Order: sequence, then C-alpha cells, then structure tokens
Amino acid sequence: MTTKYIFFTGGVVSSVGKGVTAAATGRLLKERGFKVAVQKLDPYINVDPGTMSPYQHGEVFVLDDGAETDLDLGHYERFIDIRLNKVCNVTTGQVYAEVIGKERRGDYLGGTIQVIPHITNEIKRRIAMVARTTNAEIILVEVGGTVGDIEGLPFLESLRQLRSDLGKENTLYIHVTWLPYIGATQEIKTKPTQHSVRELRSIGITPDMIVARSDFPFEKGLREKIALFCDVDIEAVIPMVTTNVLYEVPLMLEEEHVADYILQRFGLTARQEPDWSDWKWLVDETKREKPKIKIALVGKYVELHDAYMSVREALKHAALKHGVELELCWVHSTDLEKGQGWDVIKEVDGIVVPGGFGSRGIEGKIQTARYARTNQVPYLGLCLGMQLMVVEFARYILGDERVNSTEFDRSTPQPVIDLMPDQKNITDMGGTMRLGLYPCQLVPGTIAANAYQQDLVEERHRHRFEFNNKYRQVLSEHGMIYSGISPDGKLVEIAELKDHPFMLGTQFHPEFLSRPNNPHPLFSAFVEAVCKHAGVEYRSGEGEKPGAEPEPEVKEA
Ligand code: GLN
Repeated sequence: MTTKYIFFTGGVVSSVGKGVTAAATGRLLKERGFKVAVQKLDPYINVDPGTMSPYQHGEVFVLDDGAETDLDLGHYERFIDIRLNKVCNVTTGQVYAEVIGKERRGDYLGGTIQVIPHITNEIKRRIAMVARTTNAEIILVEVGGTVGDIEGLPFLESLRQLRSDLGKENTLYIHVTWLPYIGATQEIKTKPTQHSVRELRSIGITPDMIVARSDFPFEKGLREKIALFCDVDIEAVIPMVTTNVLYEVPLMLEEEHVADYILQRFGLTARQEPDWSDWKWLVDETKREKPKIKIALVGKYVELHDAYMSVREALKHAALKHGVELELCWVHSTDLEKGQGWDVIKEVDGIVVPGGFGSRGIEGKIQTARYARTNQVPYLGLCLGMQLMVVEFARYILGDERVNSTEFDRSTPQPVIDLMPDQKNITDMGGTMRLGLYPCQLVPGTIAANAYQQDLVEERHRHRFEFNNKYRQVLSEHGMIYSGISPDGKLVEIAELKDHPFMLGTQFHPEFLSRPNNPHPLFSAFVEAVCKHAGVEYRSGEGEKPGAEPEPEVKEA
C-alpha cells in the first residue's frame, strides 16, 4: 500500500499531551494490523537534545542506534511497543547543518539558498527517510511546539507541501488543542482553539481532526461548535479529558473511534480486531487500591520530574506487574550533602540512583549508596548510579575516601571509574560517548541472570566512563559480583553485591526498554526486592504476563 502520513500539530499552548496523543494513535493503528512509525520534528536549533540541560528539555531518550532524542520518542516506543531509529527525531539544527554543509561543498552550484525550497526540501527528505528505514505503512509525524512559533514555520510549510506532493488520500492533519476552563463562569471555552485553527489555515493547513484536551468533560454542543467554527466533521472533534492514568489515553481515543475515522479517510480497512485486554488490565490495575511501596529517586534534576521520565515509567510498569502502588519520593542529592532529606531516605523501601553528568550532588549520591549497602535497603543504580555504587564500595573496601571517578576528581589516586585507555586522547565530548545498544553477557546464578532468564542481552548506553578493570579483582574478593560483562570480557556492564538483598547497578540504561505490559526484568526484580523489604503483599508474577489472570500471591517479608 502507499505510505500514509498523519501530521500532528499543537495549538493554544504546549504540554497538552500532543506526544501522548500521537503515541496512542499509533497504538490504535498497530492494533488494527498496520506497521507504524513515529517521527518527531523539533523546531529548536540544537542538533540534538544530548547537550541540553535536562531542566530545559527533560530526559534525553536514547535509541538502539545511539541517537539522543526527545523524550516523546520514549512515549512512542512504550505506547506502540516499537523500536525507532535516528531518523525519527529531526531538529532545525540538523536540517540547517546539512543544508549549510552542502552549500559549502558547492552542491547547490551557486544558487541562493532559501528556506523554501532548500530547507523545506531537506525536511521532506528526512520525513521520507522514515518510510525507507522502517518499512512502516503509516507514519505519524509530530511537530514540537505550537502553531505560531517562529521556529516551527519551515516544518509546517513542509507538511503543507506534502499534501500536494503525496495526495489528499495519503495525508491527514490532526491538531491538538486546549480548551480552557473559566472558573468564574464555569465554562469551557473554544475560542483559543478557533484562533489556533485560523492561524494554521493562514499557513495553508486545514486540520482534518481536532483533539481537544480539557480538564473537564464537555457536552455535544461544544463539539458541534468546534466542528462548525473549525470546519471539521463532528466525529473528527475528539474530546480528550485529562486523566492521571497515562495508559488510559489509547482507550479513550478508541472510544471516540479515532482510528476508524483515520482509516476511513485513508480508504483502508482494519486487518484485525484490536485487542485491548492488556491495556484495560493496566488501567484497572492502576486504579485499584493496592499495598504501597515507597521508592526514593535520588537525583540532581528532581524538581523537573520529566528529567527522569523513563525511570519513573519503568518503576511504574514493574509496580503494576507486582500489584503494588508506587510512591516515588524525589530527593535532591545536594540536600543530602547538607544533612537534609535523610528522613525521606530512612522511610523508603528502596532507592534508585539514576544517570547523570557533572559533579554537583555526587557525594550525596555516594552517601545514599552507603546507606543502602549498610542498611540492606534495595538499591538500583543506573549508569552513574552504578558507578557511584562502585565508588562507595571501593572507598569502604580500600579504606580510602579518595577513591573516585575521574569524571569528578581527575587526579584521584584511586580511579575506580575511569575513561578507557583508548578514549583518553579524544577531546571532542561527543567522540568519547558510548551510545546505543551493546551486548552484555550474563553470569549464571547472579541476581541479574535470574532476572533476565537469558544469557545474552542488548541494552542501551549513554556514558563516557567505565569500571576500571584494575579494581576488578580486589572488589570481587570482597563481595562485588560482575554479573554482566561485555562478550569480549573487557567492560563491566552490571555489578551487584553479595550479602545484600538487592544492590545492583548497570552501566547501561535499562529504563529505555521497559514497556507498560512488559516491564524490564531488572526493574521487575528490583521492585520485587522492594516489596519484600517493605513486607507488603505482592504478586510475584514469574513467567506470567499481566492480563493473563495473574494469581495474587502472599509473600513474607
Ligand atoms: N557521567 C557518567 C559517564 O559519563 C554517567 C553517565 C550516565 O549516567 N548516563 O560515564
């Protein structure tokens, strides 16, 4: 079949769930038997979010091929259960870098380089690459920001051109807007939506569907009004009422027959009946009263929860599987250094130290690892969290508080975490990063191997520093186990401690591969250890999938 394209734009304000809407729509189509892919077009000038502060941007989501991308790609992968590639995130920076590079090489033969057609052609070339690299039949393309942003114009212009390039029957525009609620008069207002549609039309795009997010349900009359004023079919005005259960969104869109409308517009028919049993189970399970576990997330960007989006989601997936309610306690590692926040740490049943860069708050995280080790509290270290777990343990074993990672103390006499020798002469920051999928061999009998139930796994990386092999022997003599190593034996990928219920760190980021109905094995094993520590009733769920009538099981602490 001819490739079909669905373009998502945002109106009124950002942060109304455009990414989640695109992701959920992708799921609706996958459920009907179509191969889908999703691409995010980000209008900012950075080449990728890799160098941006998490405060600016939230988490950097890493793909199999090592692309550092927008966190919306995490939503796409989790909702649709697909693996995307680097062409699925395009930024203005990439587009201009490419065009300017060609201009410098003389590829344009002396022509004047302009936004239309040179920039827009490059954008369209990148959109076309998704079909080529993924073989998807339906491609969903989301433009970041909202209509009216100056930076977004070349992207919107490209999408406008694509309707005539590809044909009306192969393209569909979905505009995601916000309906504000005026407290004084208790009314939901459509005017901002009308204005943003007008703005969209002024650049030549007429939306085919409007997804109207609002905090309160609204009446048919309001739908009719939007349909009339914005010139879309009444059944193409989709109310999306705010829910605190993220994974309910596909079910909500299904109820509004979003996919049926899309397929009908494309002249397609569903190849199979959607099966929502897993998703319904997830939503019911989320809403059910469950025993509570408390986990502390000790980080540096904790004020912005989006900075740890995938970690939070992976913990939620695992908690759902085990039938417990997760209470996540956000702890700032610099507070711990000042003696604050320990009351929280002392209350929790488990601790996660996620990834991070730079020295701020490092000692607070090391103190956290010390607390977890000496108090037998389950600990999961992700990348930096693994490195600091190793630093803490080595300080204790070697009786030397100068032990460090050379990232934080270049001249430490005990560099237990260091750059690999072949990385040392590279000065370009990007050049030394280990990014994307790498294999990891599991050592039988370890916590990690028991969790995975596999010999060899591939996990996503994003880091510069590694476990220094000079310390392997001494630490292992005192109880550190290297439960995952690179197949050539050179790199420690997973470390865990003997004589501890669960103290495990990974050099990679398992959180990127967790799925709502298929939690990551290490997160699942960690949450199970947390449940035991908390002494709550939980479902052990071994070998069974959520949705397959899980049998509740009582465990002793
Ligand atoms: N800063 C550490 C490194 O570069 C850890 C990175 C991370 O946690 N992603 O190795």
